[in-house]
Parts: sequence; C-alpha cells; structure tokens
Amino acid sequence: MDKILLMLQLQNQLNDATNGEEWVKGITKNGKTINWRRCIYMECAEMVDSFSWKHWKSINQEPDWDNLKIEVVDVWHFIMSLAIEDYNQNLKGGIEDLAISLSSQENFSKIDNNEVKYATQKEVIDKVEDIIRLSLDRDGLDLERLVNEFFDLVVMSGLNLQTLYRLYVGKNILNQIRQDNGYKDGSYIKIWNGEEDNIVMKRLWEEDANLKPEILYKELTKLYLSLNKS
Ligand code: MG
Ligand code: MG
Repeated sequence: MDKILLMLQLQNQLNDATNGEEWVKGITKNGKTINWRRCIYMECAEMVDSFSWKHWKSINQEPDWDNLKIEVVDVWHFIMSLAIEDYNQNLKGGIEDLAISLSSQENFSKIDNNEVKYATQKEVIDKVEDIIRLSLDRDGLDLERLVNEFFDLVVMSGLNLQTLYRLYVGKNILNQIRQDNGYKDGSYIKIWNGEEDNIVMKRLWEEDANLKPEILYKELTKLYLSLNKS
C-alpha cells in the first residue's frame, strides 16, 4: 500500500506544479481543459505501437517490450490523475482513501508479487483495447474496472508493483526536473553532456536501489545546473 500512496502523492505534486492546484476541477492554471480519459487512450495507442501490428509494414519486427513498459508507466500517470480527480469531484475522499481502495482491488494481489511473466502480443493488445474501451465509455467512468484491467496489464507486460514503482518514480522525478527548468517555454536541455536526461536518471536510480525520491531530485538538479549550457 505504501508504494501506491507514494506514487499518488508524487502524481498529485506533479499535477499541482504543472497545471496549478485547481487541476482536479478539470482545468489548468493556463485555462486549458484537462481530459485524462483522452490522455489514457492516446497513450494506449503508443502501447499498441510497441508491437508490429501493421499487416503491411515491418511484418517480422520483434515486439519492443522495453518500450511497452515505458508506455505502461505513462498510462499509470494518467490513470492516477483521473482517479484523484474522480475522488475529488465526487467527494469520495482524499489520496489516502484512494490508496486504500486501489490496494484492495481484486487484481492488486497480482502485481504485489515478485514473479515476472509476459503475456503474448495478442493478449496484451486485447487488454490494451479493453482499457481504451473503458476510457471511451460514454456511460461514465468505471474506475474500479479500469484499475483492475490496468493491474492485469502491468503483470502481462512483465512488470510488478516493485518495478512499476521504480520506473514510475524515475519518470515522475524527471518530469518535475523538466518542468522546473523551462520545459514549457522550450528552454530545457534534454541532452546532458551527450547523454539523454532519462538515461542519466536511470543510471542514478539503478546505482542505488534505496535512493529516496527527493534525493534523486536533488542529485539530478545538481547535475543539470552544473551542465555547460553554452
Ligand atoms: Mg505520449
Ligand atoms: Mg508514451
């Protein structure tokens, strides 16, 4: 449960910083409408693109399981955001209540497991399409079902709670660094001394498995500020 709560807190902070604290009402501080359900199905399409699904192009290409994992983490950002918004708008409770609810879902026990197994390409795509269907459902949002399908997908993609947490925290911290250093106005530099920022993040994160998220943030900021940007 603590990992779920931590991820929800980080997501909430990231949304506050990126969109302003009123984001739960569905609008950013810049007046842009927020549509988390659209974010989810667009990111799901990126998952499908991890496979050679096209019958007319690169038909023998191997599935890109590493990319699939990254897209699963991307979708997780949006599912948590949608869930926080839903809890807020429908007065269901705060982040702690949401964490308890997510951890008591039927499929939570599947991800809270150290086994690593992959499903087949067809099974994964079918599952992704179930999630797309739920995100587009005109009859309203079935949050619990969406979360259960997502937990299924996590396991089918070779992830579990531990690896989802590590990939999510790394990406979240990097997103914060980008937002805090000019991502919106285009002045942020993604290549750090010849390496892409997410490669640097991944290395620091892998070097020390017990690193706290706030220390990772500090270390990365220090590195970014010390870059020769001329
Ligand atoms: Mg994307
Ligand atoms: Mg993506």
